[in-house]
Order: sequence, then structure tokens, then C-alpha cells
Amino acid sequence: MDVFTWVYFIAIVAEMAIRAPISSRQRKEPKSNRQVTTQEKVLLGLLFLAMFFVPIFYAATAWLDFANYTLPSWTGWLGVVIITGALIVFWRAHADLGLNWSSTLEIREKHELITRGIYGVIRHPMYASQWIWVIAQPLLLQNWVAGFLNLLVFIPFYILRVKAEEKLMLGQFGDQYRSYMQKVGAVFPKL
Ligand code: SAH
Repeated sequence: MDVFTWVYFIAIVAEMAIRAPISSRQRKEPKSNRQVTTQEKVLLGLLFLAMFFVPIFYAATAWLDFANYTLPSWTGWLGVVIITGALIVFWRAHADLGLNWSSTLEIREKHELITRGIYGVIRHPMYASQWIWVIAQPLLLQNWVAGFLNLLVFIPFYILRVKAEEKLMLGQFGDQYRSYMQKVGAVFPKL
């Protein structure tokens, strides 16, 4: 494995470490609304495949070698910088959202609308972090399949998820979320 592939898997472990404590505590929280569709389950499964399993096949087997490409080494290092940025955004988002986080769309009984910290800069920092990640991935995993599949899956996931999530948040928080949307951009800060 080259250094950039190592960096990719270290970043995966870092994301797991950031999420694990929140994930285990969040599961015990009582929920008042939970929306899980088959479409969402399929897309989440595909994301997991594209982010985790396909990179493992790329690193541990020769099956995907036909799709390898080679970039100059500075682009790999650029990938290291970009994925570090993704991890910082991911970490801040978890620190600020806390137990209001969920992998599928949920409202917990004690749900609080977070508009502070990184949520005061953008409304969807976790998805922004995933956008940054899918840009870094093809720079680190230099293979047309392992590098780009995550981007291909994330585009439809993002479009469908944000639409459903904002509908859920508007239903729960009404005008409070509406005025938050006016003030704060989705994945780019408003100037
Ligand atoms: N879209 C956000 C959160 C992703 S986690 C981000 O990218 O950072 C998804 C869950 O977060 C949803 O089930 C929703 O209940 C919750 N959520 C999203 N935005 C929130 C906010 N500003 N405050 C509190 N909960 C929020």
C-alpha cells in the first residue's frame, strides 16, 4: 500500500473514532419521529460500500488494478490536506450537534435546533465534510473505481437527503428553521 492509501484508511479510522461515542449514546435516546425509507437504506448501504469496502478491495486485492491511474505526487499530498480539512469539519459538526445526530432521519424527544458553532456557519457541515472527502478520495486512491464511486453515490444521496431533512426540520421547528435557512447557507457560508 502506498502512503496515500494509508492516509485514506487512517482518515476512515479517525471518522469512526469521532462518531463512535456519539453513536452509542444516541442510540439510547427516545425518539419522537423516525423516517427510514428503503431508498435511504439502499443509498446508505452504497455509501458504505463506496467509502469502505471498495477501497479495501483496491488496497488488498488486484481486482481493481485495471482501473489504476498515476498522478504526480503533489496531488496525493493535496489529497492529504483536503481529507484533513474534511476531518476537521466532521469533528466540529459532531462536537456541536452532539446527541441530535443520527444516521437516518430522526427527531429525538429532547431534540434541540443547533445554530451555534459550525452550524452558525453552514447548515450541513457533515454533508459538507463528505463533499470535501469525495474530492480527496480520487487524489488518495488513484483508481477510477475506488476513487470516484463515492462521489457518484453521494450526489443522489445528498440531493434526496437534504430535501427530506429540511422538510423534517421545518415540520419540527417551523419559523425558527425557516429563519435559520435564510441566514445560514447549506454547505457554503453566506457572505
Ligand atoms: N445535515 C446535518 C446533520 C446530519 S445528521 C449536517 O450535515 O451536519 C442528520 C440528523 O441531524 C437529522 O435526523 C436531523 O434530525 C438532525 N439535524 C440536522 N440539522 C440539525 C440542526 N441544525 N439542529 C439539530 N438537529 C439537526
